[in-house]
Formats: sequence, C-alpha cells, structure tokens
Amino acid sequence: MACTIIAVTEQHQGELKKPGFEVISEARRLADGCGGKVIAVVLGSGIDGLTASPAHYGADAVIKADDQKLASYHPDYYAAVIRNAAESVQAGLILMPATDMGKDLAPRVAAMLDAGLAQDCLKLELKGDVLEAERPMYAGKAIARVAVRSKVKVATLRPNVIAAAAPDASKSAPVEALTVPDTAAKLNVVSVKKAEGASLDVAEADIIVTGGRGMKDAGNFKLLETLAGILGGAVGATRAAVDAGWRPHADQVGQTGKTVSPNLYMMFGASGSIQHWAGMSGAKCIVAVNKNPEAPIMEKADYSIVGDLFEVVPALTEAIQKIKG
Ligand SMILES: Cc1cc2nc3c(=O)[nH]c(=O)nc-3n(C[C@H](O)[C@H](O)[C@H](O)COP(=O)(O)OP(=O)(O)OC[C@H]3O[C@@H](n4cnc5c(N)ncnc54)[C@H](O)[C@@H]3O)c2cc1C
Repeated sequence: MACTIIAVTEQHQGELKKPGFEVISEARRLADGCGGKVIAVVLGSGIDGLTASPAHYGADAVIKADDQKLASYHPDYYAAVIRNAAESVQAGLILMPATDMGKDLAPRVAAMLDAGLAQDCLKLELKGDVLEAERPMYAGKAIARVAVRSKVKVATLRPNVIAAAAPDASKSAPVEALTVPDTAAKLNVVSVKKAEGASLDVAEADIIVTGGRGMKDAGNFKLLETLAGILGGAVGATRAAVDAGWRPHADQVGQTGKTVSPNLYMMFGASGSIQHWAGMSGAKCIVAVNKNPEAPIMEKADYSIVGDLFEVVPALTEAIQKIKG
C-alpha cells in the first residue's frame, strides 16, 4: 500500500523539538516500506526559520501553518490545521510525538477524522492496510500489541524510544502554506505559564538525574542540579520528593508523573517503588545510589552503588568534571 504519512512536529520558543525529528525519522522508515511520502507539519507563529530542517530528517514536503493564533498550543486550532493538512494530502497515517501536546492533540484529530488511535507507541509497523503498534499498558507492567484497521490512523510515538536519523543538511523539501481555519474555538488560551524548574523537560531529556526522599530537603537538590548541568541532563524527582515540596510536579517521574525513556537514568536516595518504576522502566541504563542494599531498585539497576548519596554525588560530579575537562 502506498501511503502518505503526516509527521507532526512541535516547536518551542523558535526551535523544533527533538521528539518531532524522531517522528519524522520514523515516518520516513514506515513510508519507505510502503513506497509512500512523508509530509511534515510545522505549526506556530513566525516559523519561517523552522521549515528547512524537517527535510534533513526525511520529510518529502512541509506544510506550514504560520499564524498568531498558533503561537502557543491551542487544541482547537492545532487539531483543525492537522485535520485539514491530512485531508489535503489524503494521509493514511498521522504520527505525532507522545509529548503533553501530542497526547492531547491526537485523540482530537482522530475523532475529527474518524480514525483509530494508538497512543504512546514504542514500536510501529505498517502491514498492508493495518498499523501494528506496541504500547505499554497498566503503568508499564504489560506491553500490548494493537492493530489499527481504520482507513485513517493516528499514532503517537514515545520520545527517546526511536532515535532520530542523522540529519542530512543537503536535503530540501517544498514548503506549502496552510491557513488556519476560521473555526470558532471552543476555548481561549488566556495565558501560558512557564513551569518552574529547569528548562529541559524530563520527558525529553537523554540523561536524567533523579532525587528521592533520601535527598532530605529541597536545598540538597543543588547537588543534583550541578551534576545534571555537567551531564547536560534534567533533574527528576520521585513523588515523595514532590509531595515534600522539594521539586515541582513537572519533574515527577512515575505512574502519576511523567514517563521517560532516557539513555541514562541516575537515581539518588530513591527506593524504586513500582509506581516510580512505571515511569522510568524504559530507561536504557539505570544507575542507582542507595545506602540500603536491599532497596528494590538495587536489583533492577544496571549499576548499583551502595553508599551515602551525600558522599557519592560530589565524588561522581568531580570525577565526571575531570573527564569532561
Ligand atoms: C496511586 C499512586 C501513584 C503514585 N505515583 C508515583 C509516581 O508517579 N512517582 C513516584 O515516584 N511515586 C509514586 N507513588 C509513590 C510511591 O509508592 C513511593 O511512595 C515513592 O516512589 C517513594 O519515593 P522515594 O523512593 O523517594 O522514597 P522512599 O521509598 O522512602 O525511598 C527513599 C530511599 O532513599 C534511601 N536513602 C535515604 N537516605 C539516603 C542517603 N543519604 N544516601 C543514599 N540513599 C539514601 C533509602 O534507603 C530509601 O531506599 C505513587 C503511589 C501511589 C499509591
């Protein structure tokens, strides 16, 4: 089946975010399997500078919707633009990142297009007219294999699971402009507040340095901020640390926090409860530092250090700083 795939990108403060490049790369792989095309959709306000890079990751064409109404995420306008883009190219599959935006947007677009939906996918395969996807269920305790058989399909791809292709800056793609439909928006975005904490979102970070109850107070998280800064990572937290008021909820990883899949997940003073595990079990390498060798995470981690975090973190930070020069 020749297929046209819409790859929805996401931008923030004038930059396209990495999960969007992962989506384009995955769309390219799927399209190559069915002799199809990848159309990247870029939405925002003043986004002329953002339309070149989708081709570097494999987009055949770009649809841009540039309008003040799209300056920040607005569910009604964004969904209407993607619906129109999908209809204009007769897309069979609409792929988005499973970010906060993508997870909110995908069901809206699927409802508008009468499409089947697979959220938070770890693996995707197009087999003829069927999209097969693997996605976690029951807080990550089971992986479901689902088949989407509707004519039009919508799926979101979990960030950091499938690596973006190496960009090829010599590639370019035609850019077509799409106007924002004059749909009466059912809601108004009154203001957008930046979450407190670091600028790097844990859900998108390659490296996460998480602190738990063992950190003892908010001020001690400075130690983790320093380590994360050197590694170019984000600071995460367990619910115990968030409930204590030491970190904002935006940093919480787990069943009632964010789901992350970084390359490296470091845990300091966190026991590894099943609810925390539900959010970080997809990490490719887990390093746990705990003074209790019997803590559940010590068996599950790839590298476990039995020790006092207040000794281990400064020693690790110093050693990594030396290596980094
Ligand atoms: C419905 C529900 C949803 C939940 N959702 C989440 C969620 O999304 N995310 C989440 O994290 N939790 C969640 N929880 C809470 C979860 O059950 C645990 O209570 C929580 O994860 C424990 O956090 P912790 O590991 O920081 O604390 P603890 O379990 O108390 O572990 C602290 C660890 O620090 C170690 N430690 C102490 N001092 C030091 C030191 N100086 N050096 C080294 N190690 C030290 C201790 O040995 C201990 O292992 C949820 C619970 C429920 C019921």
